[in-house]
Amino acid sequence: MEVIESISEMKNLVKEWKRRGLSLGFVPTMGYLHEGHFALVRRAKELSDRVVVSIFVNPIQFAPGEDYQRYPRDLERDKALLEKEGVDVLFSPKVEEMYPPGFQTYVEVKELSLGLCGRYRAGHFVGVATVVLKLFNIVQPDIAVFGEKDYQQLKVIQRMVQDLNLDVKIIPHPIVREEDGLAMSSRNTYLSPEERKSAIALYKALNLAEELVNQGERRVNLLKEKLKEFIESFPYTKVQYIEFVHPETLKEVERVDEPTLLALAVFVGKARLIDNKIIIPKS
Ligand code: AMP
Repeated sequence: MEVIESISEMKNLVKEWKRRGLSLGFVPTMGYLHEGHFALVRRAKELSDRVVVSIFVNPIQFAPGEDYQRYPRDLERDKALLEKEGVDVLFSPKVEEMYPPGFQTYVEVKELSLGLCGRYRAGHFVGVATVVLKLFNIVQPDIAVFGEKDYQQLKVIQRMVQDLNLDVKIIPHPIVREEDGLAMSSRNTYLSPEERKSAIALYKALNLAEELVNQGERRVNLLKEKLKEFIESFPYTKVQYIEFVHPETLKEVERVDEPTLLALAVFVGKARLIDNKIIIPKS
């Protein structure tokens, strides 16, 4: 596996691959890799001749006061694990080269960025869309795999690709979970052993919601109340949002009569965890 930091070096290698007619799969990440990331990498490998994984903790997608500085990083460990996965290139550009002095161009996917995490993380999806477009321009992938764990991010990227006529196919990948159901996340490392026990509240709440809907409760305001009470009965938890939205437009709904995305953001101690599930009511 090659490790490339320089943008021009990455572009040159991609040109060479394209010249040879090789297809290219891409998995953008912020590193501190886990099985969720590796599942995306394996999917990219199935679909392409060459696979690039990027590791870049993107400063412009963190709002002031968020965890940019303390976001977990371990490039040496990630490198060894990606090598084992048979990845061709680990691309880890430097912040100074991605955002040199004078940088001032940003991508905004408007409506899809307004609700859910967008409401609480100012500028987050502008940061995400901007870095992903830059990475797509550098790596020029045929396909790119994104996890449904970050469901709103996936929708924002799909919309950007469509709106800006990008030649990349976005491949969604289902959420990879720990044995007890907790969605894998680099941020799970923030959890103390006691908080880790409470973190299961998110997954349990998604299942509880499905159960309640299938028992006939379709009213979102009542479902939200019950879920908040349920989640906050676990120690160290504080709900940031519980939203029921249309899975494509991400607009809030009042009743769960159609397939509906339930999205959660919950603080467990200092860790802000998210999870989601599409709830399909049995008629
Ligand atoms: P991150 O490094 O957290 O920015 O994530 C990089 C990519 O991995 C994104 O497309 C995420 O949605 C995806 N991802 C992270 N955790 C999981 C998970 N538990 N299951 C599936 N995909 C994930």
